[in-house]
This record gives sequence, structure tokens and C-alpha cells, in this order.
Amino acid sequence: MRIDVAYTGVCGTDLHIFHGHMDNRVAAPQVIGHEMSGVVAAVGPEVSGWAAGDPVTVMPLDWCGDCPACTTGHSHICHRLSFIGIDAPGSMRQSWVVDARTLVAVPEAVSLRDAALVEPTAVAVHDVRRAEVAAGERVLVVGGGPVGLLIAVVARHAGAEVLVAEVDRGRRELAQRLGLRVVDPVGEDLAAVVESWTEGAGVPVAFEVSGAQAGVESAVAALGVRGRLCLVAIHPTPREVNLHRFFWRELTLVGARLYERPDFERAVALIADGTIPTADLVTRVEPLARAQEAFEALENGAGEMKILIDCGARG
Ligand SMILES: [Zn+2]
Ligand SMILES: [Zn+2]
Repeated sequence: MRIDVAYTGVCGTDLHIFHGHMDNRVAAPQVIGHEMSGVVAAVGPEVSGWAAGDPVTVMPLDWCGDCPACTTGHSHICHRLSFIGIDAPGSMRQSWVVDARTLVAVPEAVSLRDAALVEPTAVAVHDVRRAEVAAGERVLVVGGGPVGLLIAVVARHAGAEVLVAEVDRGRRELAQRLGLRVVDPVGEDLAAVVESWTEGAGVPVAFEVSGAQAGVESAVAALGVRGRLCLVAIHPTPREVNLHRFFWRELTLVGARLYERPDFERAVALIADGTIPTADLVTRVEPLARAQEAFEALENGAGEMKILIDCGARG
């Protein structure tokens, strides 16, 4: 399938690649980008169900089909997973050829600009599902970047009350504008805030999205009896975890990585019905020729949230 790419989002992983931290996986020169929207330009031979002009997004996973993960129904965490945009060429380009099985339909009512947020929204949908967030539960999200805020919004949509802990003032202000409760874990006493919010019980669910040791500690300390810690962030080194607390309060640790096709389809639906505040989350759009500036802005710009690269295609 050949896709005319409309928009590609820049994510934290792309910033790591930009810095060369992932040179072991990314063979330069390499086109990166894995959060995208576009329009089908040409349908491959033997492909059915798609037509030129269809608005689409791509679930950027390529799995082997016969490893222990794939054969037990967990192909999204295939032992030999190739993540398209990191391990294979990505979408930061005008024209892109992908396997038909990666395509996910986007309804006409969703703008291509909004559709570029399907991939990070699918991450949040998967995380909230893995954590089994239930209506009425109080949920702590440690880390208020794009994925943290998307988790907060998706959890709230599931009926949870959400508190976001975020060190950056601009990001806290955005979370507040979205109607979320926020706390500054540096300037305030997070443990005391959680204590009073939950009348001493602790939260049933905490998401670790910060990737920092302090974030792990805060999340574990905030959990109440039989609480679930959902690990979302990619921690580059092993972390210390207070296992005594896990024993004492009978806590559960849940890993959550990427997404499955139903998460992607659910993300499309949440964007289509307006649950995801796409206009607030996209803080900048730059043309493909200014990709360098976009990366620098994401790195330096306080308050930048999601930056999109405009790759040219229109529906
Ligand atoms: Zn990403
Ligand atoms: Zn596999």
C-alpha cells in the first residue's frame, strides 16, 4: 500500500533517536516517525478492502507470527517485533509504502490533523485497559507529558477521578485547562496531597509515566491496599522499587507496552466523538522542511506538548 502522508507527530522516542541514543536500533540515514495520518494513494496487488483516497492511520507494528508471544495472542509484544519508524523506515515523508495489515481506517469526520494523535491515544487506551481502571476510582498519573495527559483523559472518560503529578508548570497549566486536578511533585508534598485526597486510603491505581526513579517512588508510595501500579514509561536502567510496600499492601505491578488493534480502533472512536482534546494537545505544526526546528522546539520549548510535522497530503 502506498500512502500519501498528511501529518506525523514527533514523540519523546523520536527525540531520543534525534540525540543518537538509539543508534543501536536506528541505522542512519533513516526516515523516522510512527504517529501519522494519511490517505491511501495506491492499493497493492492482492489487497482488498481499501481504495485510493481512504483516510488512514498506521499501527506501526510488524510481528513474526510464530514466537511464543505471537502464538499466544500477544503479537504486539512479539519477541522479534519490528517497530515501524524505529527498526524500519517511518512516516516523516510525503509518500510511504506499508503493509496493508498495518492500516487502520479513519472516519471522514475526523480531520487528518486529529488522526495523527491516534497512535499516542492508543497507548493511553491500552494502559488504562491494562490497569483495569473502573468508574469511581481515584487515579494518580505521574508525568503529565502527552501520554500522561492522554491516560488522564481516557481514565476520566472511564469514570475515574484523576490527579496528575507534573514538574513542568506549562504542562500543569494545560492539564488544568483540560479540567484535571494537578500537583507539582517538587514544590508540593505529593504524598500529603494524595493522603488528604483519598482520606488516608491511598489511590487504587497509579500510572508511572515519568521514567524517573522519583516517579516510581511517588507512585508506589501513593498506592492503597491492593493498588495497581501500571508501568508505562520506558526506564532506561533498572530502578529501585520498595518491595516491602508491595508485600505490606498487597500491591500489583502491571506492565503496559504499545497497543493492540482494538486499542487503535478505540482510540479512533475517542477522537471521533471528541473525548480527546486534540486541539489543546497539538501545540505546534511545522512543514516537513522544518523538521529540524520542530525537534529543537520540542526539546527547548517549555509548554510544548504534541508537535506535528505537516507532510503535505490533504484528504
Ligand atoms: Zn511515540
Ligand atoms: Zn512474534
